[in-house]
Amino acid sequence: MFKKLSYALGLVIFAVFAFLILKSANLSGFIDSIENRTFDLRQSILINQGAKKASEDIVIVAIDDATYEYILDNFGEWPLPRDMYAKIINYLEKQSPRAIAFDLMFVKSLKSQNQADEELVNAFKKYSNIFTSMNFDNQSEDLRVPPELPEKLTLKVENKSKIDFSGLTFTNCRTILEGILNATSNIGLINVSRSDDGILRTMPLVVKYKDDFYPQLALKVSLNYLGELSNTYEIDKRSNFVIADKKIYLDREGGAILNWYGPAGTYTYIPMYQLIKAVNGQKTDLNYDFTNKIIYFGTTAASLFDIKTVPAGKIYPGVEVQATYVNNIIDNNFIRKVDRGYTIALSILLALLIASVVSRVNSAYTASMVCFSSYFIYLMIAYYAMKYENLWLELVYPLIFSIFAFTCAYIIKYLIKSRDFEQQYKLATTDGLTELYNHRYFQEQIRMHVENSKRYNSNFSLIIIDIDFFKKFNDNFGHQSGDAVLRQVAQTLKRNVRATDIVCRYGGEEMSIILPNTGKDVAVSTAQKICERVAQHKFKLANGKDTNVTISLGVSTFPFDGDTASSLIDSADKRLYEAKNNGRNQVGGID
Ligand code: GH3
Ligand code: MG
Ligand code: MG
Repeated sequence: MFKKLSYALGLVIFAVFAFLILKSANLSGFIDSIENRTFDLRQSILINQGAKKASEDIVIVAIDDATYEYILDNFGEWPLPRDMYAKIINYLEKQSPRAIAFDLMFVKSLKSQNQADEELVNAFKKYSNIFTSMNFDNQSEDLRVPPELPEKLTLKVENKSKIDFSGLTFTNCRTILEGILNATSNIGLINVSRSDDGILRTMPLVVKYKDDFYPQLALKVSLNYLGELSNTYEIDKRSNFVIADKKIYLDREGGAILNWYGPAGTYTYIPMYQLIKAVNGQKTDLNYDFTNKIIYFGTTAASLFDIKTVPAGKIYPGVEVQATYVNNIIDNNFIRKVDRGYTIALSILLALLIASVVSRVNSAYTASMVCFSSYFIYLMIAYYAMKYENLWLELVYPLIFSIFAFTCAYIIKYLIKSRDFEQQYKLATTDGLTELYNHRYFQEQIRMHVENSKRYNSNFSLIIIDIDFFKKFNDNFGHQSGDAVLRQVAQTLKRNVRATDIVCRYGGEEMSIILPNTGKDVAVSTAQKICERVAQHKFKLANGKDTNVTISLGVSTFPFDGDTASSLIDSADKRLYEAKNNGRNQVGGID
């Protein structure tokens, strides 16, 4: 009963705890931030192991420090005149790349040169595989009027999931050259989403502006690469963005969780100045075949640096985030975070397992080891699930639940144990018939009182009691009535002494009382009082009738009658014998 109650109580505490954690926004936010760190750690380990190979089809043309210096030296200023990009495009197109994508925004600026810009616009018109980017923001309207965008830039999305895109809805936009806007529909966004700690783990696949969905640059490039252009795309009930047979999982905020292939520099880098030199017919080391490649242009020069902190590193160029994103889409390599419901269910299972181990295993060491190992096995499963299945199994909730279950189970086990111990102690020290202390306890106590009284120079007394003519009583009324009377005598004794006095069954129908800190006079008068009370008491027989019983008593006091347990017992026994000899129903040896 007590055990069941304890377990029920444990379960209730556990449920309340789980509810509190899940409902407390602060706490769950804090847990999520630690969970994110465990994600980064897993990603770093997998990256170091080279677990995932980046696509060879992606190459980065970097506007790096060398290129920046080259541009300043040869063109006198940044940005590079746009006709140079046109020339590079024309040069690269001769090698039939799959796509040329600019992680650069060709915005209108004071330095824009109409003629040069026009050439770039023409390049966009000429080739269908050139992509460029835009960025939505929430700039206030009195600074910049939100532009109308050509409808061809939108993406039709049917959202059947619970993602509401409120965090990915923008009110304004920084537009790019109007010529480009009109020339091509190959324009995607380069908006990023960062976690609270500033680390970029997810990227929006589509964002909203003026009620329409717009695609991420990487999505545009990938859809083109995969040849999966369709009129409408669906986000299914389980938050998957569906591209033919590929399902890209979007988290609650609508972000696709990127899977990283390596630290910065994972993709082939070609400094753009080498391309410029090649285009201008100058000698260069450039020896790269761009045929069928996705060529991504982006800045990596320190002064122009588009830098992100991602799980794969603190310094990660934005263009490589784009490359990773494209790589994730074409290889269908995104991370899928396991639903919170499953995580909690798993955590509860783990907690139950741990609680049952703790309650069953006696050795604390073994129990801890088994629990630790259970969680460790879970860790391993989570690690391999990410490695082979791209699954993000949460680690923190199961850990908290496990620790809590372990602690709760231990407390309950301790409570049950201490109660069991109390019960066993009572069994070991109590007489079953009379519920008085037993002989063993009496011996223990009298020795202890001798020791204590010696040390503290105090005294204590002992009364030994024997029922008169009890043999005859049994013969007359039967053993059942004898037992009943024994119990009633025991109760009468208990009622007539102090709570601190220790009443024991000495053996048979003999009982003893230890009276701590009690001198001879008080002990004798107590004995006399008991003697009278028993003699007056009506004892109930087994058949319901009343009868009278008398007792004889002997008293001894430490240290006057003896300074050891056995000499005190002897002395009390002797006086009891005297009482019997003097006619019973009295306290013996009183002068
Ligand atoms: P007296 O003490 O007055 O000299 O006579 P007595 O007949 O009581 O003698 P004694 O103390 O030697 O008797 C012990 C008797 O007590 C023996 C047994 O019949 C009875 N007795 C001892 N233990 C129990 C018990 O647990 N239940 C019952 N019913 N009787 C017991
Ligand atoms: Mg006796
Ligand atoms: Mg007797």
